[in-house]
Amino acid sequence: MHEMSLVQGLLGQLHELAKEHNKEKVISVSMEIGPFSGVVIDSFQFGFDILARDDALTREAILLIESPPALYRCCSCGMEMKAEQRPERCRHCSETLLSPVGGDDLVLRQVEME
Ligand SMILES: [Zn+2]
Repeated sequence: MHEMSLVQGLLGQLHELAKEHNKEKVISVSMEIGPFSGVVIDSFQFGFDILARDDALTREAILLIESPPALYRCCSCGMEMKAEQRPERCRHCSETLLSPVGGDDLVLRQVEME
């Protein structure tokens, strides 16, 4: 499960931030996980629950995850479609060449510490 190593990376980042700002406790963490990141949000949350509870800095931290919807843009007419999976063809002009729009990465949006 590669989400575990992503959570480990996140915790490392939080430790660095805490050190930088002289903080002792993380209250909340907001993440944005792109629709094309390949990250399973439930697994990420699960990994966080396990690893963060074991860590004095993040023991009580709340993890907030936002995931913008996946969008596909038609290469012919430019229409954008929201879809879980790549649509077969454009709903507007029937073009079959559709390209994904949006993030494929994990972004640390906001961290609240004290
Ligand atoms: Zn189209």
